Amino acid sequence: MLSKTLIVGGGLAGTLTAWALHKRQEAFSVYDNGSASASKVAAGMYNPVSFKRVVEVWNAEEHMRVMLETYSEIEKAIGVKILNRLPILRIFPNEQYRDHWSSRMNHEVGKWISPVREDVPEGVVAPNGFGIVEEAGWVNLQEMINGVRCLFPEKYEQKSWSISDGIPDGFDRVIDCRGVGAKDELNELGYKLASDHGEILTLKSNTLETQDMIINKVKWLMPFSKDTYKLGATYEWGVENSKPTDEGQNELLEAIKPAINPSISESFEIINHESGLRPTSHDRRPYACELNSHPGIYVLNGLGTRGVLVAPAIVRKIISEILN
Ligand SMILES: Cc1cc2nc3c(=O)[nH]c(=O)nc-3n(C[C@H](O)[C@H](O)[C@H](O)COP(=O)(O)OP(=O)(O)OC[C@H]3O[C@@H](n4cnc5c(N)ncnc54)[C@H](O)[C@@H]3O)c2cc1C
Repeated sequence: MLSKTLIVGGGLAGTLTAWALHKRQEAFSVYDNGSASASKVAAGMYNPVSFKRVVEVWNAEEHMRVMLETYSEIEKAIGVKILNRLPILRIFPNEQYRDHWSSRMNHEVGKWISPVREDVPEGVVAPNGFGIVEEAGWVNLQEMINGVRCLFPEKYEQKSWSISDGIPDGFDRVIDCRGVGAKDELNELGYKLASDHGEILTLKSNTLETQDMIINKVKWLMPFSKDTYKLGATYEWGVENSKPTDEGQNELLEAIKPAINPSISESFEIINHESGLRPTSHDRRPYACELNSHPGIYVLNGLGTRGVLVAPAIVRKIISEILN
């Protein structure tokens, strides 16, 4: 007889888990209680390069490959474009950084980054030059989550669950994808999880013409739809209750100002301001494991700032471990 899995949480982790089980023709249900979800506010960006030290991110090649495969498959199944391949233009903050970038061309990260460039696009300000990461982009998480849910709406229920509930009757196992909703219980069991607050703005501008790239100067400006951009994101550790703040808004607007022609940045119209809590593990690696103390209950959490890139490979791995 087929086994049946309960997925708890319908954000990025839960949705990709549902998709993986669907592909394997496994029986499952999804409980989601409608509490705050990081996936609802995330810009959905992916980037194989960490700009701080100009190094490849963890397992970049494998994670990029599985990520592109997975979102392309989902895109086909739901019939909605979710995968947007867009290069990132990294503005160099100073000459030292520019020299460092240049020296990194001979390392592993060299396959992802362009040589130093000076041909600054119209409207962008980059006196120290810039570099490009071609293999970057963003995934429309809202469309993906809604689209997958619409494939099998009968499997979704608005319900709360916690580890103390155990494995409900009719199920063989639970995969806990509750994001920060699982924080207290996981911390009690010794799986350290933090909630890291982030804010993001949606802006309108019909004077900026860089709709074909994401601009990054620590903060980033990402074309989202015609004349509309996401500007993000702030980062604050260990916040319990997330809400948009004036400080967050100012921090974002001030940070992007030096990267954009003043006549353009002054014309930005703010049309939305959102915030959320990133579920972050102690060592920035996600949890994808069975709980020692609760056999049959698996945790898929701690996706942090790079959930879009990391989650498809992590989900694939945990599902194949469970089912094989
Ligand atoms: C401002 C901001 C910008 C970001 N930008 C990016 C980005 O550009 N790229 C990127 O890769 N990542 C980004 N992230 C991080 C990304 O959002 C996360 O890595 C990812 O969304 C986490 O997904 P999740 O499914 O683990 O958690 P969530 O999306 O939070 O989903 C958890 C779900 O569980 C449900 N739930 C909670 N408790 C219960 C319960 N007791 N019972 C039932 N259901 C429950 C909730 O309702 C929710 O739907 C950003 C985050 C923030 C805050």
